[in-house]
Amino acid sequence: MKRGMLTIVSGFSGAGKSSVTKGLVADYPGYWLSVSCTTRDPREGEQEGREYYFKTKPDFEKLIGEDSFLEFAEYTGNYYGTPKQYVEEHLARGINVILEIEVQGAMKVKAKIPEAVLVFVVAPSMETLIRRLRDRKTETEEKIQSRIRQMKTEFTYIPKYDYLLVNDDLDDAVRRLDEIIRTNASRVAENGEMLKDIENYLGGLS
Ligand code: 5GP
Repeated sequence: MKRGMLTIVSGFSGAGKSSVTKGLVADYPGYWLSVSCTTRDPREGEQEGREYYFKTKPDFEKLIGEDSFLEFAEYTGNYYGTPKQYVEEHLARGINVILEIEVQGAMKVKAKIPEAVLVFVVAPSMETLIRRLRDRKTETEEKIQSRIRQMKTEFTYIPKYDYLLVNDDLDDAVRRLDEIIRTNASRVAENGEMLKDIENYLGGLS
């Protein structure tokens, strides 16, 4: 069975990357969105095991010690990490795995798994993005300012990504993300098994 593709989706806070990744797994077959662990507090409406596995700092550090994460990073004072086992299980079953993670984590995954596809989501304009962040009303002004500082750092990582996805219309952005992943699955480098079968068959012909 062909392994699933690993795709990393990052983006500025408020660019709508969660909506895009959630839309992808809801509307298109064959995708699984990884659920991360975090030490940040749950936001209103968030559920344990759905948005995140919420951990205390000591529990998170215990998981680090047990080598449970594919990657983890510190972001605005909290830990965030991708549980390794579920990702591997889904990829082995041929399911395309989506990691919605920030830039440092993305770089760590890319170093470990070079064939991973990296997609950076941006809002159609910076004005729209800042407005979306403020409209959320879940963050204090101080936290918003810290996220803006974060964006300045994140911006410097964009050249290391494979695709820039402009989230102007949600359905359209979801469709384009599916297209990016499927196009990538057709790359010659992704089809070693298939090429081996062809080579074996041709080798048997006189
Ligand atoms: P939020 O607190 O808004 O849910 O997430 C903050 C940032 O952490 C987002 O950029 C999100 O993509 C990122 N993030 C979520 N889970 C993980 C993870 O497992 N690893 C890393 N490195 N970043 C994550």
